[in-house]
Order: sequence, then C-alpha cells, then structure tokens
Amino acid sequence: MSSLLRIIRFTRDLSPLYLAVIACSVLTAATTLAVPFLIGRATDTVAGAVGGSIGADAAVRTVLLLALAVLAAELATTVIANVGGWFGDVMSNRMRTILSVRYYDKLLHLPQRWFDTEITGTIVARLNRSIAEVTNFAKTMSNSFASMLITTAAVLVISAWYAWPLALLLLAIFPIYVWLTALTSKKWQRLEGEKNEQVDIASGRFAEVIGQIRVVKSFVRERGELEDFSRRFGSTDATTRAQSTHWHRMDVLRRSVLNLVFFGIYAIIFVRTVQGHFTLGEMVLLVQLMGMAKSPVESMSWVIDSSQRAIAGSTDYFRVMSTPDDPRTAALPGAARTLTPVAGAPALAFEHVDFAYEADEQVLHDIDFTLAQGERIALVGESGGGKSTIVNLLLGLYEPGSGRIRVGGHDAREIPIEQLRGGIGVVFQDASLFSGTIRENIAYGRPGASEEEVREAAVRANADAFIGRFPGGYDQLIGERGLKLSGGQRQRIAVARAILKDAPILVLDEATSALDTKAERQVQKGLDELMAERTSLIIAHRLSTIAGVDRIITLRDGHIDEIGTPAELAASGGIYAQLLALQNSGKTKQLARF
Ligand code: ADP
Repeated sequence: MSSLLRIIRFTRDLSPLYLAVIACSVLTAATTLAVPFLIGRATDTVAGAVGGSIGADAAVRTVLLLALAVLAAELATTVIANVGGWFGDVMSNRMRTILSVRYYDKLLHLPQRWFDTEITGTIVARLNRSIAEVTNFAKTMSNSFASMLITTAAVLVISAWYAWPLALLLLAIFPIYVWLTALTSKKWQRLEGEKNEQVDIASGRFAEVIGQIRVVKSFVRERGELEDFSRRFGSTDATTRAQSTHWHRMDVLRRSVLNLVFFGIYAIIFVRTVQGHFTLGEMVLLVQLMGMAKSPVESMSWVIDSSQRAIAGSTDYFRVMSTPDDPRTAALPGAARTLTPVAGAPALAFEHVDFAYEADEQVLHDIDFTLAQGERIALVGESGGGKSTIVNLLLGLYEPGSGRIRVGGHDAREIPIEQLRGGIGVVFQDASLFSGTIRENIAYGRPGASEEEVREAAVRANADAFIGRFPGGYDQLIGERGLKLSGGQRQRIAVARAILKDAPILVLDEATSALDTKAERQVQKGLDELMAERTSLIIAHRLSTIAGVDRIITLRDGHIDEIGTPAELAASGGIYAQLLALQNSGKTKQLARF
C-alpha cells in the first residue's frame, strides 16, 4: 500500500490531472444521484394523482418535467463521465511515461556491478509488467470506480438521513471486505511475486535467445529453449490456480455477506414503507440509492484484485528505484568535455592498484605503470589475466580496491565522469554498434557532428569505401548490434566513431582479435590513423597488432610480470620472448592463449 502512495508522490507533477479526475468523479456522482430523487418525486406525484390529492393535468406536467430532468441528468452524467475518462486516459498514459522515463533514468545511473548480475530481458519484462499494473489500476480507478465510491459515500449520508440502520448496515460491509482481503492479501502477494519472478526470468531468457538466435540455430537448441520457456510459464499455472481458487472462494464469501446485508436493507425499506414511515416515492428513492451503492461494493472484488497487482507492481518498481546510484554518475553526465592535464604529468598512471569484483577474489594485484603523453603501451598476457579489468577501472566503471589511477596528473576519482570518459576513446572487441544508420553510429559520441566530419572520420578509419558501396550509403541501416555488417566493417565503424570522438587517450580492447588477417589489415590501417599522436593503451591477442608500440606490459594472474620495450622484453626470455619464439616457429599468432 505504501508503495502505491509512493507512486502518487513520485508522479506529483500529475496533480492537476488527478484533481480533474476527482472533480469529474464528484460531478458524475452528483448527476447520478439526482436521478433517484427525481424518480422518487415522480413516484410521489403519480401516487398523489392516483389517490386524488393532485389534479391529473398538473401531475402529468410535473412528471413530464421530472422525466426531462432525468434525461438532462443522464446526459450530464454521460458527458462528465467521458470527460473524466479522457482525463483518466491522459493521466494513466502520462503516468506510464513518467514511471518509464524515471526507471530508464535510474538504470542509466546504476553502477556497472548491478548489470553484472541482471539479465537484460528480465529487467525490461519487469519494467513493463510493473508499470502496466500500476497504470491499469490508475485507469480502473479513474474511469469509473472513483465516481462509484463517491456515490456510495453520498448514499451512506443520504440513507443515514432517512433511516440510520440502513446506513449502519451499508457501512458494515466495508470493514468485512477489508478484513476478508487482509486475511489473504499476504499470501496472494507472495504467490504473485513468485509467479512474476518466473515470468520475468522466462522473458529474460526469451530476449537473450532471440538476440543470439544464430547460436541457438547452430546448436539446434530450439526445442530445448522452447521446453525451458514453456516449463517456466507452465510453473506459473499452479500458482495462478491457487490464487484464482482462493480469489473465487473469497468472492463467494464476500458476495454472500453482501447479499445478506442487502436482504436486511431491503427488508427495512419495505417494512418501514408498509408501516407508513416512508412514502412510496421515498421507498423508490431508497431502493434505487441502495442499488447504486451495491454495484460499487460488488465491483470492489476486482478493484481489490487490481489494487493488489498494482501494489505488487509498484513494490517491484521501487525495488529497482531504491538501488543506490553509481556515485560517479549520480547526476546525468553532460556532454563530454576535455580535461586539462597537469603540466608535465604522465597521460595515465596506475599506482599500486588492487581490485576484486567479488569480495574475496582478487583480480588485480599491485598494478603500477605510467604512460607518457603520446606513448603507446601494449598489455599482453593470458586470457583472464586482468587486461579488460584494467580498462574497466580506467573508465571508472569500477573503483580500485586500493591504490590510485591518475589521468593527466589528476586523481581519476576526482575527475568529473564526463571529462574522464570524454577523454578516453575506446574500441572494444565486439564493436558494440546499435541498430540505426551508419551515420548515427559513427556520430554516437558526438551527435552534433557535421556530415563532413562523419565522412572524414570514416575515410580515416578506412571505412568510407565500403560504406559508399551500400545502397543507402551513410544512411544504410545496419540491424541490431550492426549484425548486417561483417566483423571487419563493424570494427572500422567503431574506429571511425573513436576518431570522431577525438579523445587524447585511446584504448583498444582486443580491437582486432575477432577478425581474420585480411579484415585485421583493413582495420589496422584505421587504427594506425587513430593512434597517431595519441596516448594509447592496446590490449592485444596478436603480435601484429602491437607492432610499433613503445613498451609492453605482460600480465600474469593479475600481476605485472614485465614492463619494457619490445627489444628489452624479447631479450629477457620472459612471456613476450616465448610468444615471439612461438610465432616465429609458426605455431601461433595468438598472444593471449599461449
Ligand atoms: P582479460 O581481459 O585479461 O582476459 P579480464 O580482465 O576480463 O581478463 O578478467 C580477469 C578476471 O576477472 C577473470 O578471472 C574473470 O573471470 C574476472 N571477471 C571479469 N569480469 C568480471 C565481472 N564482471 N564480475 C566478476 N568477475 C569478473
């Protein structure tokens, strides 16, 4: 319940819409309530005419006028209810937008660690479900239930005026309902949570499988994936059955109590009319009023259902929303800005850095090296040795456990994130493109770049020629993650993107390791252009990639093994020398998996 109140607080910008919906509900209630009064009056007029106390002509005039008033009230109800419905639609849609944008905003601010354990599709499924449940409830409430509740409250007051036992009986229904609901709400919520968990996991897997459909197809895993999916969804059947059985049992109980109470209400109205306490008109009025109160009370069952779903949805929503932000990006980073280095300071320095992803699994030990301005250093070592982790730390995606990283002489922790990341150009192994056009991808780091700048970056990245051969040229759509391009083409677009970003420090994280020799040569040309006059940190699998570097660092199990020029390391007989020997003997081209 408190999570629903939080949703209202969260969306307080919508207060004018909430007020409009409430105002329409009050007006609808008023025009709805006018009808039984008018019909009650008409009944008394008819009874008067039949009894002879009112003249026939006058009675006809009165009842016709009353009938016209009923028509006017009904028309007003229709119009106001629809205006309220319109406000309700606008409100629930705005609510969905606000909740979705804030959720997205939250996700963009969560620390990298959070994403290490979450599954993308599950995050999306949870977002969609929880927001849909909250907004559906808001819509349900605004479309009719709010006005029904107000009508019921008014009926209570009016019936108290005529006969307080009626009001008391009507009033008694509410605590009984609340009590019956509270009795089972906890269990219901738990079952709902379990069911949603299964559905979200299945949806997460679904998205992953569709995203990697080539792997699924090549391993002929369609059947297995389908079975897994249907098993997860199937497992929710039992939960739904239990929930539904429970809900319908409760509904029988609730409605029986309701009908018992209404038996009492109608008995009082009829007996009192016979005893002369009410006129015929009053009897008709009261019977109609009670009918009006009965339908919202009956509808309470599904409103309770919808509200419980909304509570479950909003609880899920706030579970993510209350995860602490990455302290580095607590405010959305602005546009990338350049960092002014301290005069004479090295471009980059790792000072005795230790790091662990998981509490007791040290991944980096005492990493200590510097990169002078314009220097090129290659990081070489076995797979899992910690090379990418060094890049992650440099980008501020994780903080060192101990030690310090300096960029341009400044402590990296104190550099605003847009300056830190804005000053580093990265080309990852898997290109990491987005669906959309080639132009959008090249300009991803500089959305305002001109046509000319994009083209120039592509020319320098050795990509312009192949882009020109596409029918759409720079507007060619490249599919999800750029899957319509070859690996070499993707990588050259990623290089063009880094060229356009024009950052003083460059990181190549195994940028060519997934390519064949020909594609590597094509990309290497672009990389050479990119590295010119930049401080570069190159993680490489192949010796060919690191030809011409100034120094090499070899890593083993998260420790620095050796640092030196290629010539020094070749002579030292260490890892690099062994690799050279291996390559020269033609056994391998791979540095990493020696
Ligand atoms: P390299 O780039 O040299 O192949 P990495 O830096 O990727 O090595 O990985 C170093 C170690 O850290 C490996 O043992 C790997 O399993 C672990 N590791 C990498 N990323 C994560 C992560 N996000 N969470 C936990 N452990 C990780």
